[in-house]
Amino acid sequence: MVIIKTTEEIEIIRECGRRLATVLHKVKEKVTAGISTKELDLYAEKLIRDMGDTPAFLNYRPEGANKPFPSSLCVSVNDEVVHGIPRKNRILKEGDIVSIDLGVKHKGLFTDMAMTVPVGKVNPIDLKLMQITEQALQVGIDSAVAGNTVGDIGYAIESFIKSNKSQKYGIVEVLSGHGVGHEIHEDPYIPNFGKPGTGAKLKAGMIIALEPMLNLGTKHVTIDDDGYTIRTADGKRSAHFEHTILITEGEPEILTKV
Ligand code: MG
Repeated sequence: MVIIKTTEEIEIIRECGRRLATVLHKVKEKVTAGISTKELDLYAEKLIRDMGDTPAFLNYRPEGANKPFPSSLCVSVNDEVVHGIPRKNRILKEGDIVSIDLGVKHKGLFTDMAMTVPVGKVNPIDLKLMQITEQALQVGIDSAVAGNTVGDIGYAIESFIKSNKSQKYGIVEVLSGHGVGHEIHEDPYIPNFGKPGTGAKLKAGMIIALEPMLNLGTKHVTIDDDGYTIRTADGKRSAHFEHTILITEGEPEILTKV
């Protein structure tokens, strides 16, 4: 069931998004050669708890998972697409690309945000991958207006990516954007591909997280034995950008911003 948020809920979620964006940008500053992915996780958790809030992913158990997620921050390096588990012995090095994905619960309500960050100087092909993914997110946001459908968002994202002729990218299909607010994942689910005019209709007051995931190689992914880490099947690199947004009658409002 698609949930329309009340004015009071929107106010809380807006504050939640501002707090999340503040934390994630601080974590981004720490993404440097020599730091472990676990240090990034503990830093994110501390910042969230210092504000009196709760990390949304810590101990979250997605449908079908046989154990809860063990960390506050997902840290996915290079060929890891999403849901990478932070580790003390996973040390970042120059040239890596690192996706950091975080959810915050503030006064009982949730927001979700992600970005891919370069470690020092990275390969121009990787830089372009990150830029196209971030632009694809913006194209998706621009199409997310009341009266349009979930399929219109997917179509906009997919068309934008396919219009880039200099490099063919794999759009991850098994994971998608989603409603967010009362839970970290709610209806509707919003694939990063689609047909115009299909799927749930967008209405003012809906809050959704859009999150294109792009691979340098094919769309195919595998899951590690840890039950969480999703990585590209061909070992090529991947990028991920995500915002939580509010649907309005006019331009959508990005809630996960400082
Ligand atoms: Mg998400």
